Amino acid sequence: MINQIKQLKSKALEQINQIKNKADLDKVWRQYLGRQNGKLTKLLRGLKDLSVKEKPKVGSLANQVKQEINQAIDIKRQELFSSGSKVKSETLDFTLPGKKVELGHLHPLTQGKQMAADIFLSMGFEILEGPEFETDYYNFEALNIPKGHPSRDMWDTFYIKSKKGELLRTHTSPMQIRVMEKKKPPLKVCVIGKCFRHEATDASHEHTFYHIEGFVVDEEISVANLIYTLKTFLNALFKTEVKIRVRPSYFPFTEPSFEVDFACLNCGGKGCPVCSQTGWVEILGAGMIHPEVFKQAGYIKEKYTGFAFGIGLDRLIMMKHKIDDIRLLHSSDLRFIRQF
Ligand SMILES: [Zn+2]
Repeated sequence: MINQIKQLKSKALEQINQIKNKADLDKVWRQYLGRQNGKLTKLLRGLKDLSVKEKPKVGSLANQVKQEINQAIDIKRQELFSSGSKVKSETLDFTLPGKKVELGHLHPLTQGKQMAADIFLSMGFEILEGPEFETDYYNFEALNIPKGHPSRDMWDTFYIKSKKGELLRTHTSPMQIRVMEKKKPPLKVCVIGKCFRHEATDASHEHTFYHIEGFVVDEEISVANLIYTLKTFLNALFKTEVKIRVRPSYFPFTEPSFEVDFACLNCGGKGCPVCSQTGWVEILGAGMIHPEVFKQAGYIKEKYTGFAFGIGLDRLIMMKHKIDDIRLLHSSDLRFIRQF
């Protein structure tokens, strides 16, 4: 039996030595050491028939051979893995170019939000966001738009079915009240956030959009301060001297109220499709804060004055990048987004 084991060992080692791939290596392992039909395994099973004197000798030899075969297989396996030329399928070619990891970038709206915030910060404004889910009181009533007032029609509103009748804010102006309730003037606040309106969407209307609200409250604040602030902001955003025009308008929470237009940057004021041939682009609403709003905030009558304005960020971004359809901004279309 000892001879049998020795023969088996030399045969196995010779076979292992000639192996050229991993599959054959596994096959040889099964052939000699496999649990069911391995040649050495079978021999070991015969140990029980040996005499008490022979058993330890043969047993220790068999175990030693088993170890040697295992070792030879391990060495061969390492050899096969480390030498690329021997096993083509397992080759690692370090000269191949790597896979490029694609980096994303900020959405044009996010870039616009950050740009606007930076400009207002540089002018000493505090930047806030405020809740998108708002109460009727802050969105309308406290802003001098009582229930049943016809001016509510100016805001197509998404109402929430709840006991309190909350809504999705239609503008960022509720923050005027929320801030004034907590703080006393002087105030210089800029609120940049999402607003929602129940609009039929088209190239220039979306149900979800960003508003930049700005308001300043102190003693002796005037329209001149408002116009200066807006011009400074627009010049910094468009990185050029922007000409603006102020027209009288109506908003329930400002008196007097204005629409502010700026000279079309596309045609320089000559008239083009972007400005509907008028040379002017309507960009924001503004005005002096209504005394009723101060009253709701609990401010002393006639002590303070202030201005407020609301700018559609989406439209500013469209003008800046010459985008002709507002819906593209919320489309998640990577072909569009990758251009910025
Ligand atoms: Zn134009």
